[in-house]
Amino acid sequence: MAHASQTDTPFDGGLYVITYGCQMNEYDSDKMASLLQKTYGLELVDSPDEADVVLMNTCSVREKAQEKVFSELGRWSKWKAKKPNRVIGVGGCVASQEGNVIRQRAPSVDVIFGPQTLHRLPAMIDEALRVRGDDSIKKKKAVIDITFPEIEKFDNLPEPEVNGVSAMVSVMEGCSKYCTFCVVPYTRGEEVSRPFADVMREIETLAQQGVREINLLGQNVNAYRGEMEDGEIADLAVLIHAMREIDGIDRIRYTTSHPNEMTQSLIDCYAEVPELVSHLHLPIQTGSDRVLAMMKRNHMAIEYKSTIRKIRALRPNLSLSGDFIVGFPGETCDDFKETLALVEELNYDRSFSFIYSARPGTPAAAFPDEETMEKKKRRLYHLQELLNKQTAEISESMVGTTQRILVERLSRNSFTEIAGRTENNRVVNVEGSPDLIGQFIDVKITEAYTNSLKGEIVATPEADKYETQQFHAL
Ligand code: SF4
Repeated sequence: MAHASQTDTPFDGGLYVITYGCQMNEYDSDKMASLLQKTYGLELVDSPDEADVVLMNTCSVREKAQEKVFSELGRWSKWKAKKPNRVIGVGGCVASQEGNVIRQRAPSVDVIFGPQTLHRLPAMIDEALRVRGDDSIKKKKAVIDITFPEIEKFDNLPEPEVNGVSAMVSVMEGCSKYCTFCVVPYTRGEEVSRPFADVMREIETLAQQGVREINLLGQNVNAYRGEMEDGEIADLAVLIHAMREIDGIDRIRYTTSHPNEMTQSLIDCYAEVPELVSHLHLPIQTGSDRVLAMMKRNHMAIEYKSTIRKIRALRPNLSLSGDFIVGFPGETCDDFKETLALVEELNYDRSFSFIYSARPGTPAAAFPDEETMEKKKRRLYHLQELLNKQTAEISESMVGTTQRILVERLSRNSFTEIAGRTENNRVVNVEGSPDLIGQFIDVKITEAYTNSLKGEIVATPEADKYETQQFHAL
């Protein structure tokens, strides 16, 4: 379907996008915004009051996030009543799972799309506007498309546009692991990888625009199996080796990973690819083999530990983060103690931990659960206390060390400071020139705070190299 071009845009306000959930959702929201900017000239605004189009990118991984969707939509319908030509769109995982319920319960919603159909958003908005203007249609309903057209999405999204030195690149979608507690395989579909050449082209375009750091994204990013032009399949290790050759790309991250996809060739990257950061987010969820089996994670704690040991043999300073679920149905006090023991043993940096929340349609939702919420809350408290202590100790241990940071922006604290990130994703504020934005610099860490570090510049190797080149050119 042809849709409105920017010159005949039906909107005079802006675009407001609210995002719940994971980095994949943040990535998708950026893509939606740039798509609607290109199609209708809609600029992003900071509040729904200034917007003509409001989009909610939802998450259904936890019950609370899902409840928020309906309460937020209640507020938005009042807001829409003040200016009825506004458009409300709901996307993401709740839309994918509950699209028809939203259509019935929230009549103010105009378009409902899933994570795999967001590229069809302009056509859907055009259709919603057409339905709205057609007086012969008495009972107007939201336009809905929550299908799984696989890789089509990536082929139809706009070229990346950059407003920083670090960018996310989605390389695969979905998940085929079917952990018993998780909705992702049902909301985002099975694992589908983008062709290798497409990913490389996107990274090259980003590098040409000044990006220095790439974060490869996927629900199970290390399950990446992208088809190459010769028909061979590239795994994540092949992709990492290839992208390090791209001029300008000097830092590589990937998230989120599954322990069973940590192949030897990916582990070897920690020895062979200095651009790959010494930080790994590798969720295990629980330290108990019994609970791991009930979760259908298909590995044991010892296998996970062995993977971490192998990587730490190559990178002794590897910072590890994870996701943990406490109070999974059937988890006993002894199971929980095994989680604590695992966390003690491996030493985690900033990690995520939650009380199990049953998601409708998942196998675990039907498991008997006799533990009281009181006990679950106490377990979460103990786990978070330990995780927070480890994180604070890691920050403290960085004081006095020299860290390489990628300078991203001006600091929010002071006009004379710039801010960048370490390999383990700590924000460091340092006195320095804005000319250093986009460069790697070495800083000595002088103070550790809860959410950031302070440092002093020790060396600016890239600026020095540039000055030397200028000098020789004279
Ligand atoms: S690996 Fe398990 S937890 Fe992760 S997205 Fe897939 S099903 Fe969900």
